[in-house]
Amino acid sequence: MNILAVGAHPDDIEINCAGTLAKYAAQGHKVFICTATSGNIGSATLPKDEIGALRKQEAAKSAAIIGAEYICLDYDDELFYEDVNVRIDFINMVRHCKPDVILTHNPHDYNPDHMLTSKIINDIEVMIPIAKIPTAEAPCETLPVIYYFEPAKGMGFIPTDYVDITDFFETKKKMFLCHESQQQWMADNYAGYSAEDTFTADMTIQAQYRGMQCGVKYAEAFIRCNDAYRMTPSRLLP
Ligand SMILES: [Zn+2]
Repeated sequence: MNILAVGAHPDDIEINCAGTLAKYAAQGHKVFICTATSGNIGSATLPKDEIGALRKQEAAKSAAIIGAEYICLDYDDELFYEDVNVRIDFINMVRHCKPDVILTHNPHDYNPDHMLTSKIINDIEVMIPIAKIPTAEAPCETLPVIYYFEPAKGMGFIPTDYVDITDFFETKKKMFLCHESQQQWMADNYAGYSAEDTFTADMTIQAQYRGMQCGVKYAEAFIRCNDAYRMTPSRLLP
């Protein structure tokens, strides 16, 4: 299968579904990681273009760990709005990846970029096979199944599906730690975040908590989007 994870910012994917992507990759599936923005406000000191370029490098390095292709649509972090060009860009990106499965943000989330990314993926999914919506990439022949990953700290998220990532937790951590610039950003911006905290603490607690719910050491959790176009009898998660 072709698997596409779409997040708003570099590191969203690693926090919420990198273990699942690593597992897919190990099983021989082709993985794509796309971020809508470059994360170009993610520094208190660097100019926007410099931090944007750095964060794309970090994301590409993380993707390379599992042999995934990284795509950045290069929209502005926290100033991401939908217009016709954005919609066409997303359709073209999905057509390039020809995914069987898309993992993306939950429609309900704390961050507007996350919610808009999720909304656009939902909105365009039925458009990707339509030839009368032309893009550089040819229309897809099938519709992917969509799974939503968790919002920050799993707030209000009741999973329908779990993936055992016990054997892939170290890979997930390694991928997350590629986002080195964000360690400083967390310390600069979030009250209560201190040098004593490990950068991976929340991610570890969340994977343990979801693991506890399904009887394994570490897991990632998803909600399957079931609408009339996307019904399939088989589970496509690894
Ligand atoms: Zn984000």
